[in-house]
Amino acid sequence: MSYQLLDGKKISEEILNEIAEKVRTIKEKGGKIPHLAAILVGSDGASITYVNNKVKSCERVGFKSTLIQYDAGISEEELLDKVIEINEDSDIDGLIVQSPLPKHISESKVVQTISPEKDVDGFHPTNFGRLALGLPTYVSATPNGVIEMLKRYAIPTEGKHCVVIGRSNIVGSPMSILMSRNAYPGNATVTLCHSRTKDLKSLTLQADIIIVALGKAEFLTADMVKQGAVVIDVGITRVADSTKKSGYRLLGDVKFDEVAPKCSYITPVPGGVGLTTIASLLSNTLKAANKEVY
Ligand code: NAD
Repeated sequence: MSYQLLDGKKISEEILNEIAEKVRTIKEKGGKIPHLAAILVGSDGASITYVNNKVKSCERVGFKSTLIQYDAGISEEELLDKVIEINEDSDIDGLIVQSPLPKHISESKVVQTISPEKDVDGFHPTNFGRLALGLPTYVSATPNGVIEMLKRYAIPTEGKHCVVIGRSNIVGSPMSILMSRNAYPGNATVTLCHSRTKDLKSLTLQADIIIVALGKAEFLTADMVKQGAVVIDVGITRVADSTKKSGYRLLGDVKFDEVAPKCSYITPVPGGVGLTTIASLLSNTLKAANKEVY
């Protein structure tokens, strides 16, 4: 069976172009340029790449961006003070703190210190609660990117059985809420699977849509997928590869080569959900600048 690739690059380009157009209009009218601040702690290679890509995308759409870097030894108190300072800075519309943070810093405390109005990652309990209640909010960027992808490819979701693998606060859990809400994309019957799920394969084999976000390279294999399913691969794992200049390559949570021929639609890794995540983050920042949520 021939499958269609869900092209994250194409979708993210579309979204970024739409944002850039809106920023041009703001500039023409002499309005305030949206401004995203990002805090990076430590020197984790993947985190540096993610933050740099976010900053680069800000430039691309005409946003202002500020990157604040600390070494891994920064104290929790010092980091929280910086967050509070940014909360009070009226020029900054959105703030993200790149995870993971060093062990001695509580991510939960940091997230809860970010003002909900500036929490463009959508991680603050207020924003997550608003998502659960279907109120205007910043939907966390990765699930939002998946929703945009389904929408822009006009993939039917109503009445479908959607299996989400992974229950993290930033991907699986909000994803399951979005897919079950009374809206499009949504209105699916959702099964949320996790590390304690028994006989996962019997569930994935019933799924019309599988959203995989567990962080285990090539976990979803062809024998777990029904013919014609839509498969969305959120996972990103770096594996050593001496043939690459970077020394690594990226693998998703789906064994792409064997799963793809069974699918109607599938996202690649790289070139899939990762790119729509960044576009969603910038959409949230524009919303923050326009005060569309609060
Ligand atoms: P996490 O580690 O917080 O959560 C993983 C989840 O998988 C847990 O809920 C766990 O219960 C579940 N799980 C683990 N083993 C399982 C098993 N054998 N069967 C079923 N479920 C199992 O991960 P996360 O932060 O949600 O990230 C997941 C993956 O998505 C990672 O590879 C991460 O790098 C990637 N990610 C990508 C983006 C993006 O922009 N594309 C954004 C965030 C995360």
